[in-house]
Amino acid sequence: MGLIHVLPDLLVNRIAAGEVIERPASVVKELLENSIDAEATRIEVAIEDGGRRLVRVTDNGTGMGEDDVALAVVPHATSKIEREEDLFAIGTMGFRGEALASIAAVSDLRLVSRRADSDAGHEIRACGDKVEGPKAAGAPVGTTVEVRDLFFNVPARRKFLRTAQTEFGHIVEQVARVALAHPRVEFRLTHDGREIHRLPPTESLRERISDFYGAELAEALIPIQRTERGAVLTGLVSPPAQSRSTNRWEYTFLNGRFIRDKFIAHAVREAYRGLIDPQRHPVTFLMLRIEPADVDVNVHPTKIEVRWRDSNLIHSLVLAAMRDTFLQHDLTPPLATPAPRDEDAEQRRQKIRQAMADFFKSHQPPANQGSLPFAGSRPSAGGAASGRDPSMRVPDPGFPVRGSGAFVARAKEDAEKRSRAEAQSTTSACPPVRVSPRSSSSAQSEIRGPQSAPPDPDAADLAAAFRADRVLQIHASYLVAETPEGMVIIDQHALHERIMYEQLHDQLSRGPLESQRLLLPETVEISPEQMGVLEVHADLLRRLGLELTAFGPGTVAVHACPSLLRGPSVPSFVRDLIEKLSQQSGRSEPEAMLQEILAMTACKAAIKAGDPLSPEEIVALLAQAERVEKSTNCPHGRPTSLRLTVADLERQFKRT
Ligand code: ADP
Ligand code: MG
Repeated sequence: MGLIHVLPDLLVNRIAAGEVIERPASVVKELLENSIDAEATRIEVAIEDGGRRLVRVTDNGTGMGEDDVALAVVPHATSKIEREEDLFAIGTMGFRGEALASIAAVSDLRLVSRRADSDAGHEIRACGDKVEGPKAAGAPVGTTVEVRDLFFNVPARRKFLRTAQTEFGHIVEQVARVALAHPRVEFRLTHDGREIHRLPPTESLRERISDFYGAELAEALIPIQRTERGAVLTGLVSPPAQSRSTNRWEYTFLNGRFIRDKFIAHAVREAYRGLIDPQRHPVTFLMLRIEPADVDVNVHPTKIEVRWRDSNLIHSLVLAAMRDTFLQHDLTPPLATPAPRDEDAEQRRQKIRQAMADFFKSHQPPANQGSLPFAGSRPSAGGAASGRDPSMRVPDPGFPVRGSGAFVARAKEDAEKRSRAEAQSTTSACPPVRVSPRSSSSAQSEIRGPQSAPPDPDAADLAAAFRADRVLQIHASYLVAETPEGMVIIDQHALHERIMYEQLHDQLSRGPLESQRLLLPETVEISPEQMGVLEVHADLLRRLGLELTAFGPGTVAVHACPSLLRGPSVPSFVRDLIEKLSQQSGRSEPEAMLQEILAMTACKAAIKAGDPLSPEEIVALLAQAERVEKSTNCPHGRPTSLRLTVADLERQFKRT
């Protein structure tokens, strides 16, 4: 007998399921795509325990009759294509007829469906290789698919799943991808009974973005539009000042489906080249429509990648659309200068600031409250978040952020503390932490602020070793200094970053980072699921010297931040930190994550390339460098300085 045998169907399905169903979020994606294909206008997604216990998607689409209910869970059974030619004219999200069968192979799946022309619904249950039904069942028009105990029969996969919070994060991302591509469809997402997103139907992509990510981002985006040889590109992209630390905000949708594409990513990078820091990424929502015949979507199991008939056309379409828009908007400021702000956004900002100023004047939170009062105090995301009018998001000054009642009771006691805190914060609220001779004479004095420590005689000696008049700053970025052996060229940002990093490390080994209260709290818009991330990492945030409170749906107020940070960098620091935490939760070692966060903090706190330094600041920076071990590399591993000995110079000039 030969060695080769045909695998049993169940095993084939399990293998297929492995490709398509990687985690609960994959189930959500497939079910949502089916609802969209069924022309639903309202879709509800209910998740329990990060999708491990339950994923339920309910739609008001066309529904299925009894025969179709029976076939829906059979492998390679689909209503979307019939013959091979159809593969080149795919107008639906699905076409392989594999999703429901794959999900059923690795879970306990129940599907109930009813067509509008039928007065009864039908139900089927499929679990592993067992199928029960279809049988008649009462149901509204449309389809509900319930997926319980995902991977109950694939322990290896189940073990691979991360925390509920992380899995839910992936689910939110999948919901975002479908919801952004289909603004006209109403969505509701709940996790363990809590409503996380409610997205009313809208004609406008901008409104959908606003409902999902907040008005601040949505209002800042610039529209783009271009048509070339039948390919139509529309969308919204960020002005350079709105850049992010990761590329996960670069969304591309092809004919209503989220895709990742290297040609488009390249075109986007090109378009922003010179406008944003090469390490940062823009926010883009690109909606591309092309003839289905001009693209092959059947090249990837989850259809996230496609093959273009003419990739040059796609590249040039995207690049030209963005370049033209940037030229029209005159968005060619040099690196890192803020782009002109939208007037409305600015007004709104003012309003929020005023509201916050009033609010915190009357409700100063207790100065030493360490824990994060998120749980319970968070208003439902369905409240003001779903308001159509962006001004609805301006927090009501009387809004009980920390849980009702508590403020009133504490008001008296706080009044005293407040006057003390205010007195203190006027001198220390995010001062521009600059290297200056006094503040940098020891690591400690810089942290405490300019006034608090006497000059350190040792450091003064060291500083004297570099004579200010022998150090030259060039291009406001590099320092050139004479050394006993020759000369050194220093990258001022990289060096200061290293120094900050070591100081942060040192502080953290002794306790929480030194923290300063902000005179006026900064607000940062984050997504509701990121609120969850903050809860999970409450302890870490406290160690970092951050004090955050929920401030209306999708907004946190920053009351205190690490003292080393400079004022303007606080919101972007908090945004990047939250981004980092939500990406990484559960994935990397806590210690490794902390290192990364310290490196990020150091980067934000450090002087930048392009900052002109006074002679005293230069000397102070060099003196600090002497006190720091490993000062030859920045925390990211780049060198901080290049040394040239006299011998090197002589060799270069061919004197030897
Ligand atoms: P595919 O989407 O690739 O066709 P699926 O396994 O996802 O494969 O679904 C199989 C079939 O079940 C679909 O072709 C469709 O006819 C039907 N179906 C699945 N979900 C729904 C739904 N929510 N509403 C109506 N019909 C559905
Ligand atoms: Mg499908």
